[in-house]
Amino acid sequence: MEAFFRAHQPIDLHLHSNVSDGTDTPTEVVRAAFGAGVRTMALTDHDTTAGWDEAIAECAQQGMTFIGGMEITARGARGGGVHMLAYLFDPNDEALLSAVNSVLDARIPRLQEMTTRLAATYAITWDDVLRQANGKSIGRPHLASAMQELGYVADTNDFFENVVTKDSPYYVPSPGLDVRDVITLVRGAGGVPITAHPVGRHSHVMPREHMVALNAAGLGGFELDHVENFKNPEGLARLREYAEEFDLIVTGSSDYNGTRKPNSPVSYTTTPEMLQRIIDESTGFAPIYA
Ligand code: FE
Ligand code: FE
Repeated sequence: MEAFFRAHQPIDLHLHSNVSDGTDTPTEVVRAAFGAGVRTMALTDHDTTAGWDEAIAECAQQGMTFIGGMEITARGARGGGVHMLAYLFDPNDEALLSAVNSVLDARIPRLQEMTTRLAATYAITWDDVLRQANGKSIGRPHLASAMQELGYVADTNDFFENVVTKDSPYYVPSPGLDVRDVITLVRGAGGVPITAHPVGRHSHVMPREHMVALNAAGLGGFELDHVENFKNPEGLARLREYAEEFDLIVTGSSDYNGTRKPNSPVSYTTTPEMLQRIIDESTGFAPIYA
């Protein structure tokens, strides 16, 4: 029960820095979170923990609790992209590291292929995309930003919802790992796997057999209070039922990305009881208390 009193509220467990696709440095993310009132935060960059050290140092400065996190690119049962949040895993676990590095390696050829396909219709080049990433880990949001700067889309949402939809000729399937393998890897590294925005990007309701398979693989829970989930109330309601039935952890988070998304820190939060469950289930990395 000790952590109950040590990890101060409010708790925001999903924020991105420019180590992946956010626009703020890890230090700036921590300051933005603190300024918005957050007192316990997880830095969850895509497929990398490279921002942890800087965030840990700034959390200490601000008197905030740091929870180690990462958002892993995975593939679901239907082949679609799934984002798996991992918390309090060993950041040096070799199996997990080599898996996420393979995702990072596959990201660039995929983006190049999407850029090539877009270039058949739009005057966009790979250099336009590289400029957006500015030397940092490159992702699809940089492609979206390049299209925005060139005036082809209004914003990132316009890009994903109206141009590079899954059935468009520009879409190249995600290179992610099978979601059950990701769950196994995260657990193997002593971490807790929580599916990020589990219904926001799909209109479907998760079939029971998928839930049973995820539960058997060791899924820890779902990030239910996420702005994107509310676009699919039916899918969200079903996950709330599953969370009860399978006794899963449920979290809420902002998914702050700096200026790339409107999501501001602390817009959704996680309860101390649920953070305590994550801490109790983890063995790979301890929270760093203020
Ligand atoms: Fe995500
Ligand atoms: Fe995210």
